[in-house]
Formats: sequence, C-alpha cells, structure tokens
Amino acid sequence: MTIGFHQKDFLLAVEGLTVSFDGFKAVNDLSFYVDENEIRVIIGPNGAGKTTVLDLICGKTEATSGSIRFRGQELTRMTENQIVEAGVGRKFQTPSIYDDLTVFENLEISYPRGRSVVGALAFRRDAAVRERVEAIAEMIFLKDRLDINADLLSHGQKQWLEIGMLLIQEPALLMLDEPVAGMSVSERIKTAELLKRIIKNHTVLVIEHDMKFVEDIAHKVTVLHQGQILSEGKMEKVKADPKVIEVYLGH
Ligand code: ADP
Ligand code: MG
Repeated sequence: MTIGFHQKDFLLAVEGLTVSFDGFKAVNDLSFYVDENEIRVIIGPNGAGKTTVLDLICGKTEATSGSIRFRGQELTRMTENQIVEAGVGRKFQTPSIYDDLTVFENLEISYPRGRSVVGALAFRRDAAVRERVEAIAEMIFLKDRLDINADLLSHGQKQWLEIGMLLIQEPALLMLDEPVAGMSVSERIKTAELLKRIIKNHTVLVIEHDMKFVEDIAHKVTVLHQGQILSEGKMEKVKADPKVIEVYLGH
C-alpha cells in the first residue's frame, strides 16, 4: 500500500481501492482525492464501477484491499453505522422516503436524536427540530409542502426530500447516485442550485450521466472505466480527452 503523504489535506482520500467479486475486479486499484467543499462528479459507462465505489465508501460493500481515509479515519475498518456517524451520508438511486408520512415528518424522523430529554429541555429540543426542519425544507424547495404526504410529491420533489433527510443529519460528505435521473429540466436546474448551495458547508460526491448537469456543477470530474480512472480533472479537459470520447461521450 502507498503511504498517502498528502492524505491529510483531503477530506476523502481513496488509495489502491480494490473489490473483487468472485475474481472480477469491479473496482481495481483505484485512487482519488476529494477536497473539502468540492463537488466531485464520477462519470463513466454502465458497469464502470461507479455505484460500487459509493458502496465501498459507505461500508455497504467490503473492500478486498486498499484504503479509504475520511477526516483521518480509515473507513474500510468501520461498520456502515460508524461511517454514517463519522459524517458520510449516502443517497441511493431509488428514494427511500416514507410515503405515508408528511414531508415534515420525513425530515423530523431523520433529525439526529441525542439522549432523550424531558420537560423544558424537550420543549426546547422540539423547537430546535422544527426550526431545522423548516430551514431544510426551504433549501430543498418544499417549504410550502411540509404538511402533505410524501407520496403526493413529484418524482423530483421526492429526490429533494431524500437529500433533505440526509442534510438534516449534517454529513460532512454527501454522496448521491444519479440524483437527476427522471427529473424535468427545471428540476435539474434547481437540483444544481441546491448542490451549489450546500457545498458551502458540505462536500459532495455525485454520480451522474446528464452531461449538461455535470458541466454545471462539477469542480472536478473523475471518469471511471472498468474499475479504474480513465481521466480526471476539470470538465473541459476531460471532455476533450480522446479516451473519454471513445469509451463514453462518443456514445
Ligand atoms: P456502475 O454504477 O458504474 O454502472 P456498478 O458499480 O453498479 O457499475 O457495477 C460495476 C460492475 O460490478 C458490474 O459489472 C456489476 O455487475 C458488478 N457488481 C456490482 N456489484 C456486485 C456484487 N455485489 N456482486 C457481483 N458483481 C457486482
Ligand atoms: Mg450505478
């Protein structure tokens, strides 16, 4: 294993990461580094290993070898819950909201609970929760939808709600897998706005196929192909890379 001499400068340092499924290396000796307050977008053809990278970071899949350093902690040795507590939030491709609860309730149940409190303290806590739920609802464009059931939201609004349910837990790193898939053009524009707003105090790692959206939000792009990096850097550079055009953008 390489010694990550520049690890400490990065919020997330992935080094030599490999996962083998019955001998097939879905992620193969992968290294990349994400800065604090950066929006990093991972692109690449289907089967490139993008979702698997997020699975490895959030602890859903166990690495075969390699290192994932996050704020000085080695995530490959931690459980999924410990990784969430360390400040990594993950949104999956399909929304996991509670359809029969209101928008308010969905956000409320996601609020991180400390020890239980009673009386005046509980009252103060409830007020703090309400304030936080309202602030998040405003950020995710659902302030006027707080009291409706989540199943009445549009597909895009459900995606925002789920992002809100992650944000309320204040993760340092937010990981999103194809957040604008199935969204209308105006919803995509608002989602880009939302991500740009949240990186003031978060870092975002996002997988996306919509190149217009990627161009709009990415600080840097990592192109994956067969579990390895094909190209990396600013969008203009990556877009002009003949290797990227050949395996991905040309299709
Ligand atoms: P992407 O998100 O880039 O489309 P994935 O990360 O989902 O790609 O998958 C990368 C490759 O790894 C695919 O060939 C997929 O079939 C395989 N793969 C992913 N997860 C598993 C698993 N749990 N077991 C076996 N193979 C898997
Ligand atoms: Mg995927």
